[in-house]
Amino acid sequence: MRAVLHMVAAARPNLPKLAALWHALAEAPPVCTPVLVHTGQHHDAAMFGDLLDDLGLPAPGVSLGISGGSHAELTGRTMIAAEAAWQRDRPAMVVVAGDVDGALAAGLAARKLRIPVAHLEAGLRCGDADMPEEINRRALDAISDVLWAPDDATAARLRAEGHGAARVRAVGNAMVDSLLRHLPAARARPLPAGLQPGGYGIVTLHRPANVDDEPALRALVAAVEDAARALPLAWPLHPRTRARMDRFGLGPPRGVRMLPPLRYLDFLALMAHARLVATDSGGVQEEAAALGLPCLTLRPSTERPATLDAGGNRLVTAAGLADAMRDPPGRAAPIPLWDGRAGARMRDHLAELLAP
Ligand code: UDP
Repeated sequence: MRAVLHMVAAARPNLPKLAALWHALAEAPPVCTPVLVHTGQHHDAAMFGDLLDDLGLPAPGVSLGISGGSHAELTGRTMIAAEAAWQRDRPAMVVVAGDVDGALAAGLAARKLRIPVAHLEAGLRCGDADMPEEINRRALDAISDVLWAPDDATAARLRAEGHGAARVRAVGNAMVDSLLRHLPAARARPLPAGLQPGGYGIVTLHRPANVDDEPALRALVAAVEDAARALPLAWPLHPRTRARMDRFGLGPPRGVRMLPPLRYLDFLALMAHARLVATDSGGVQEEAAALGLPCLTLRPSTERPATLDAGGNRLVTAAGLADAMRDPPGRAAPIPLWDGRAGARMRDHLAELLAP
């Protein structure tokens, strides 16, 4: 019987990364039987269900149904549910992607049951030890048996942190695999009415440091309104940001095309035809680099320094946004291993690890 591999998806950005491995496994002689496990952290159609369809992923085989609450509540409840699921039905290995609370919880639960854990997207560090995702990244890397890093520099940093060389492998960027796979279909989709190819920029914001703090969000909304005078902007609003804007009584910035969270293919289409993107999203920084789309990152640091080194991304403040829009970075140079083959490299590694 083939080994069963549980692939844990908690939130939206986990899915394109897991899809890279899922499709690589399906396109080669069988290595294992993959099962998608959904913790429930993101669970509605806009943030999860539609993405499964767009990525060609099946409905999850295991659904833990855990969402909402504080960091500790979500982490604790997910651990309890994952432990119960894996005591009933024990996989040979668990893959967790990214850095949200549900991913950390699943990794911890698996490790405590002595189920080997692979961390997809290991080694990312922005250096801000207080950022919730940074805490999760460090903790997951500390306990995982296999560390799949997106590039050689990240793998080297993991080894320098003391992670054994045998655990660390630079496999490439799985987000870019999904982007390259779905770009042709995305390009064929229409843009939202009123947007012309090459005639607009995109804004996305959802990081707690930017949107949970009222003065920070107020400054960003004002900055986006100001920047829209330099270039028409479209802003697909993350549910978290919408909720905070409502709570703080903040209306949409004038002159900006506000959109709901877009389906994955529609968001790729929006990026493929944009002139630039201003974002605090990790995944969007990576996709922009792969597309050659100039990126302004509205954060004091990034855990994706390869995008800065490649010349396509720049860190900006709210106050500096409008000026940066008038003088944006150029196209990113190609980044080694961001080539659409990350899924195949993970699959080949799994074939070694799971060999009978
Ligand atoms: N994305 C999407 N619809 C949107 C905005 C983003 O499908 O309206 C996709 C985007 O293409 C990328 C992923 O969501 O693949 C990034 O997720 P997010 O920004 O929520 O999280 P992060 O990458 O910051 O962890």
